[in-house]
Amino acid sequence: MSACQNAHQLHPEQHHINVLEMRNETSKVDYYMPKTCQQCDNPPCVSVCPVDATFKRQDGIVLIDNERCIGCRFCIAACPYSARTFNWKEPKDAELYADVAYDVELNVPQKKGTVTKCAFSADRLRKGKLPYCVSACPNGVYYFGDANEDLVTNGTTKKTVRLSNLLKENAAYRLMPELGTKPSVYYLPPRT
Ligand code: SF4
Ligand code: SF4
Repeated sequence: MSACQNAHQLHPEQHHINVLEMRNETSKVDYYMPKTCQQCDNPPCVSVCPVDATFKRQDGIVLIDNERCIGCRFCIAACPYSARTFNWKEPKDAELYADVAYDVELNVPQKKGTVTKCAFSADRLRKGKLPYCVSACPNGVYYFGDANEDLVTNGTTKKTVRLSNLLKENAAYRLMPELGTKPSVYYLPPRT
């Protein structure tokens, strides 16, 4: 969360990725659940935007162009995963970014009155690097990769494995698949 917030000029209460503390009511076991934009293949946030400020790229990543965003927040209402956050006040360290050119893949400089969310660190991918959160995790929690290549790399161990095997062997699931949003993020159930 810190790596992401530092990269994206976010205040502590703003999240592109939020690690939630969860409890399994049956086993009473606590676990953590990182929640980010699910990078839906059928994203309801995109279809409601009246000015095409949020859009899905050919590689599947959903981005926001802050220079087009008019702050209507329709996309926040449409997102069933609460993945978007609104810049109600001046972004963190706004003065440091005053002369920085806008980077739509990094979504920085942030702008008061616009919406922001996880972009799968599209700026890092362009440089051949894993996303900020994936690289920062010390516990090997995150795998990231290309579904078409069926390969994902662990951010901590740097081990690359078949995505299809990882999902099958761990009974992976997606959040609210019944909505038809086709999320690109999969979860592996907690182990006790
Ligand atoms: S999780 Fe929400 S913000 Fe992200 S692509 Fe899906 S609908 Fe859009
Ligand atoms: S808040 Fe911005 S990105 Fe969201 S729907 Fe409105 S114009 Fe589009």
